[in-house]
Amino acid sequence: MSQEGEQEQSDRKKYEFRKVIEDLKDYEGSGTQLVTIYVPDDRQISDVVAHVTQEHSEAANIKSKQTRTNVQDALTSIKDRLRYYDTYPPENGLVMFSGAVDAGGGQTEMVTNVLESPPQPVESFRYHCDSDFLTEPLEHMLADNGLYGLIVLDRREANVGWLRGKRIEPVKSASSLVPGKQRKGGQSAQRFARLRLEAIDNFYQEVAGMGNDLFVPKRHELDGILVGGPSPTKDEFLDGDYLHHEIQDNVIGKFDVSYTDESGLKELVDNAEEALADAEVMKEKQEMEEFFEELHAGERATYGFEQTRDNLIMGSVETLLISEDLRSDVVVFDCPECSNTDYEVIDRRNSTPDHECSECGTAIEADDADREDAIDHLIEIAEQRGTETKFISTDFEKGEQLYNAFGGFAGILRYSTGV
Ligand SMILES: [Zn+2]
Repeated sequence: MSQEGEQEQSDRKKYEFRKVIEDLKDYEGSGTQLVTIYVPDDRQISDVVAHVTQEHSEAANIKSKQTRTNVQDALTSIKDRLRYYDTYPPENGLVMFSGAVDAGGGQTEMVTNVLESPPQPVESFRYHCDSDFLTEPLEHMLADNGLYGLIVLDRREANVGWLRGKRIEPVKSASSLVPGKQRKGGQSAQRFARLRLEAIDNFYQEVAGMGNDLFVPKRHELDGILVGGPSPTKDEFLDGDYLHHEIQDNVIGKFDVSYTDESGLKELVDNAEEALADAEVMKEKQEMEEFFEELHAGERATYGFEQTRDNLIMGSVETLLISEDLRSDVVVFDCPECSNTDYEVIDRRNSTPDHECSECGTAIEADDADREDAIDHLIEIAEQRGTETKFISTDFEKGEQLYNAFGGFAGILRYSTGV
């Protein structure tokens, strides 16, 4: 699969996950009876089954009969689902939710949901039993999918690595031969200073080389580079243009860090938190700016469900823009009298309305219509046509306008289509 394909796959998956999480967050158990299990992909399924079996027998000690039964039922249900897997979970692991949730009127309802291959790897095994499901780790995985290059350095040591989403991956380190500030006896002060500067320069070149090797091949996916270190090292390094010119512009900030080993990479990311959040919103802002420019002065904008859908089908949409806050279904009315098909977008919580064909006025009953998730519907077409999908938050004005004024769906076209 192409890299772009993978990205779309993951956008879609993220959307699916977000939907499931929203439902899961609404659930509550009357007791400590909702079970959540996070399984990394290197954990053997047989280990997980053993753990669940153990919890099941320990649950026999729960005093409340109802809670005891509910917890054991949840664990049995999870064990049943684990049978579908061979030795190991699929890539990136599994997250399992099961439990008796309040269904109103003193009734409970058994809910079991298994999410496979989250967008980022499950880091560690977690067993959680509470009155609600544990969704935060999954939410963190969905919150951010950026790819950033990391460099920390002082004159003695350097580390380079990646920030993928929330995960830091150290890749390479180097240590320098730069002599300390004290010269040995017999050496002229001038010569010593010159050798020392040369050694520093060599070290900066070596660090830049590590960064270039890592970041230049990925420069098109890269969302930015962060550089950390004490002053003036990081400033000298950046001002000296050591990095390859193709990635020098990707540096989104330099930050003070006190460590330059692997823990320095974490310190760098912590200190850059604000800049990272800005960079994320910045990308969304740029997409929306382009859309509004085309809307007002160009011909490459489309919006609204049907118009966007028509353009998608023609393959003319470059970027599909979907509001992150959108929770809509589309109802598809195929007219039995003429060949017309109407689409009506409705709030997911509402029931399917009756409809009159927009061409011939024939009444179409709700029962005869197909209903599906509106976002899934468009993303599926987008995937087939090689269109990139971007989810846009409502955290900024133009993002809010996408949701309020354009029905949550818009697109930037590859070329003007006159539709
Ligand atoms: Zn009709």
